[in-house]
Amino acid sequence: MKKQFFYTLFCLTLMATNLQAQTPDNGKPHQCKPVQKEYTEEDYKNNPLIQEWKTPYQTPPFDLIKVEHYLPAFYHALEVADKEIYMISDQKSTPTFENTIVALDRSGALLTRISNVFFNMLSANTSPELQKIAQEISPVLTKHSNEIYHNKALFSRVLEIYKLKDKLTKQEDKMLLEKTYRAFINSGAQLSDEDKESYNVLSMELSRLSLVFSENVLSATNEFEMILTTPEEVKGIPANELEIAHAKAKAKGLDGYLFDLSAPSYGAIMKYSDDRRLREKIYRVYNSKAFSGQYDNNSLIIEILNMRSKIAHLLGFNTYAEYALQDRMAENPENVIILLDQLLEASYPVAKKEIEAIELFARENGLEGNLERWDFSYYSEKYKNKKYNISDEMVKPYFKLENVIDGVFILTKKLYGITYKENKNIPVYHPDVKAYEVYRNKELLAILYLDFHPRSSKRGGAWMTSFREQSIDAKGNNIRPIVSLVMNFTPSTSENPSLLTYDEVTTFLHEFGHGLHGMLSNVTYESLAGTSVPRDFVELPSQIMENFASNPEFLKMFAYHYKTKDLIPQDLIKKLKEVDNYLAGYSFCRQLTFGYLDMMWHTIAPESITGVLEFERKAIEKTELLPIVEETCMSTSFSHIFAGGYAAGYYGYKWAEVLDADAFAYFSENGVYSKKIADSFVENILSKGGTLKAMDMYINFRGRAPQVDALLKRSGLK
Ligand SMILES: [Zn+2]
Repeated sequence: MKKQFFYTLFCLTLMATNLQAQTPDNGKPHQCKPVQKEYTEEDYKNNPLIQEWKTPYQTPPFDLIKVEHYLPAFYHALEVADKEIYMISDQKSTPTFENTIVALDRSGALLTRISNVFFNMLSANTSPELQKIAQEISPVLTKHSNEIYHNKALFSRVLEIYKLKDKLTKQEDKMLLEKTYRAFINSGAQLSDEDKESYNVLSMELSRLSLVFSENVLSATNEFEMILTTPEEVKGIPANELEIAHAKAKAKGLDGYLFDLSAPSYGAIMKYSDDRRLREKIYRVYNSKAFSGQYDNNSLIIEILNMRSKIAHLLGFNTYAEYALQDRMAENPENVIILLDQLLEASYPVAKKEIEAIELFARENGLEGNLERWDFSYYSEKYKNKKYNISDEMVKPYFKLENVIDGVFILTKKLYGITYKENKNIPVYHPDVKAYEVYRNKELLAILYLDFHPRSSKRGGAWMTSFREQSIDAKGNNIRPIVSLVMNFTPSTSENPSLLTYDEVTTFLHEFGHGLHGMLSNVTYESLAGTSVPRDFVELPSQIMENFASNPEFLKMFAYHYKTKDLIPQDLIKKLKEVDNYLAGYSFCRQLTFGYLDMMWHTIAPESITGVLEFERKAIEKTELLPIVEETCMSTSFSHIFAGGYAAGYYGYKWAEVLDADAFAYFSENGVYSKKIADSFVENILSKGGTLKAMDMYINFRGRAPQVDALLKRSGLK
């Protein structure tokens, strides 16, 4: 069945099927359609991706998996999955929920297992070889998925059961049936043969183009690096940032300080470098990634939009946004725009004032000319420092990575009774990765991998993903999930441990929230497990965790100075709380910019677009706060929507923020660590996956529908 991988800053949508051994009623062996490549038994025999995993908790045997194992494993698993589907579609028995809908959910397990390993490695530990395999296998997987959804015998069975849907008594069964039926409809099961063929061509090409898009972004990011050598060139940049840059240079056999486009490196220049021309240079490079040259994404964007628009039309929708939104909480593009407009109206005037204050401050401190985009972080960091007497550098010593991990572990123990035990016998895919056994009520809840630091084989951003989803198997065993959190945080150096910024601590809490959603899942069917919820609901469990970042009781659990071992001072905690809303208007507008841009791309007829940059400028005109910088473009590296699963879904962050603020207000009203509320959050949301409609889950938890007030109040906008 259709599986989706929810990443926070990067998301892959991938279709795969499950496998379950069943015999067709006629008992005859099934003649599979030939796959693209032929492999021998020998290729399969010693392939660790295919063999039973004899590792602790059946975790992926990363120590055994080699690049050459993927393709034969994929082709073998596709063949097995095909057989499984045939056994469901061509069985003689009358269609029942069990023999068709449940069987589909359980089919293709081997293919899912292999896909999970492969696509997670493609994001977190990639190589040119893996990218090449992805180019080959992605269209094949899409084709395979289309064949399932376009299988007439199978669809007629699904349809027959769907007609009797009111006979189902269990809520989870109803949801699985609804989801399965919609997956068929949304993949063109009802189309004519000719239109089905068009759908095939479009969806396969789309999966290929999305891959090229993200590879271009990664290549454009890795392409740039810069060595600074003289003290003049690095003026303003704090010693520990220089130390990291020096370590990077040294690793390449170079002198001086190496800066690149990874988030911590870019951030250090933009926030601290006194050299305005240097900031401008880096700003321009960073914000024109994949905009021109070898890795130009301009024409890819138009092609991707064209494919999406055609798919939407084929399926009877006016725009891709309408198609994408049908199963979401927001329901339609109009509702999205209503929310975005409402939030823009509340935040834009505030953002304007914030910019004015920064500009005034910048002039008092020597700025000449306009406050440009490459000046904003620099002066706003200094202004924050002056206004609140706080800076990242003051806070970082209290956020030693190991301590932050402890803090989050203690927090989740307090809230949800979860405990963690590192297990060094679980194989990992990179020496940086740590693996944990996670327990609740003395029972194994999940396996958790944590992967913190940037490397050139890792995509930018931070995300949560799974190597195995939770489910209850045919024998009644509760299969516990394998969850992974991947970040790009400040690394350690030979002299300093990894010291996180406040933003990084917040990001870790965010991803950990997704992790809890995956780990606490307690459903029957894999297709409904954990984060298998609408895109505009999936950020509720993650964003609600961010509320703890400035919570004094949380900080007191772990925030000890890495040298003096002193607890973070009370007044610093107070300041963190105060600065939580620093530039709230600006941050709102920035997120709204992405939200509008995404919705505009997916509601426009692509043939009317004359140029990517031109369209982008117009789409976000009303959210702009600083002078436009020529030849910079966000769309060409907007992987969320052109290579991830957030197409017509970026607004979901803001949508879910309404939910998380409203939900956290409920926690606060009852005492932030209220056992009753935490239990209810697990019971009604974190354990439920997609077994109920998102709004119903929310109302079951909160006692009423969400209201936008809590968000505006929390952000100081009301
Ligand atoms: Zn997220």
